[in-house]
Amino acid sequence: MADRDEIIAAARSAGVVGARYGIPTHIKLEESVEVVVANGCESEPLLFGAKWLMTHHAREIVNGLELAMTATGARRGIVAHLNVDSDLDAAVRAEAAAHPQIDVFHAPGFYPACEAHTLTHETTGRVVPDGGTPASVGVGVFDVETLFNLSRALDGTPVTHRTVTVAGEVAHPGVVRMPLGASLQDAIDRAGGPTTEKFRVLVGGPASGALADDTSQPITKTTAAVLVLPAHHIQVQKRTRSIAVMLLRARSTCFHCSECTEHCTRHLAGCMIEPHKIMQAICFSLENLNASITSAVDCGGCGVCDSFVCKMGVSPRVICRLISAHLEAMGWEKPPAGEPGRVTAEYATGHVSVEELISRLGVEEYVETADLRRIIHADAEPEATPAHSLAVPLLQHVGAPAVPVVGAGDNVDAGQAIGEIPQGRRGARVHAAVGGTVGDVGRLVEISPTPETSANHDGDAAAVRQDALPD
Ligand code: SF4
Ligand code: SF4
Repeated sequence: MADRDEIIAAARSAGVVGARYGIPTHIKLEESVEVVVANGCESEPLLFGAKWLMTHHAREIVNGLELAMTATGARRGIVAHLNVDSDLDAAVRAEAAAHPQIDVFHAPGFYPACEAHTLTHETTGRVVPDGGTPASVGVGVFDVETLFNLSRALDGTPVTHRTVTVAGEVAHPGVVRMPLGASLQDAIDRAGGPTTEKFRVLVGGPASGALADDTSQPITKTTAAVLVLPAHHIQVQKRTRSIAVMLLRARSTCFHCSECTEHCTRHLAGCMIEPHKIMQAICFSLENLNASITSAVDCGGCGVCDSFVCKMGVSPRVICRLISAHLEAMGWEKPPAGEPGRVTAEYATGHVSVEELISRLGVEEYVETADLRRIIHADAEPEATPAHSLAVPLLQHVGAPAVPVVGAGDNVDAGQAIGEIPQGRRGARVHAAVGGTVGDVGRLVEISPTPETSANHDGDAAAVRQDALPD
């Protein structure tokens, strides 16, 4: 077994980042914790990537968990998931059996059981304090994909692919390992193409996902899902409202009923965030930085408030994101984490069942048509390599963009580093998923694959453009 420094160096070298928010894993591994949780609680409807990964790669995930425990000094490991009595459960248990310090935990079936503060409480009984992270109470939460990548990093394999669910209006919903820098359209083609003419794409799940500008947007290390929905779908309509309209709604139609707070995931888990008070506060001014306003930075972006709760079409989630960006632009500094508090009295009853969420999101038909058993048991490694150029973003993580170390006309090998962490900054390395020739280098590094690396391509999708990055 490698030692702490070797594990951290391998994670850094391979460009491993958190599969959800993109926090560089080598930074997270430097924190000392007592417990590491492998987060396989994929509770958002229509997401299957973590379930597929646990079914087929339980060994790497448990190995990655053990490596994370060694690096952080944790004495206990937990693999948390939702799928009791499943092949996934059997696979994970079989691997964990050889490690007496690792337990398997069945998380409750509400959304979002996967949320890090909630999962910390569910698995350990600890409460993350205001402004803190699970590490503030001695817990490290890592997505199963991150641990899978960490395990491979120790073998010298860099992160070049992402496990992506493709669902909704596609011919064959499923899971595919997409090369970083392929387009959303590549993933849709890989799933048999769209089944409706006028569609829009959510990147992520139906509750928390963001609307893509177009399908040329690249797949990154944090792209969990490509969800194709009819252009008129309610989840698309909600996301096409401008910020000005969102603010206007918050200021005019919110009647401060406090239901969003009663169901807010972070509020239930013990944070002081109260979305209805944030809606009240912004009626006056964003410049008045009272505690209600600044608590918006603790929003986890789960989408329960707008996808499930608010009947007035207000989106506390979007407003919280707007306030967080505003505070960052102002140079506002988050105060140090407070003392751990308590979960609210409504913790046991305030969460949203996945069944209710599916119905409220309007995605029942896609849940019914997605054949979970077929998707999870697809046993071939579903890696896809487009024939046309990839466009690999240099910023796929929290921190500074990677600095390109290749130029136009260079030949690169699959797995070669094409972006390095800038000196003295937080960031992550970026690697080429395929061998080929480098084209334009800007915010993206374009790579035209050599013919042999594109042999398994079965579509002819549009390439990603330099201007196709989301802001
Ligand atoms: S945002 Fe919606 S749920 Fe929240 S207080 Fe306003 S009206 Fe009620
Ligand atoms: S998205 Fe809404 S429910 Fe979720 S943490 Fe943020 S404010 Fe709370």
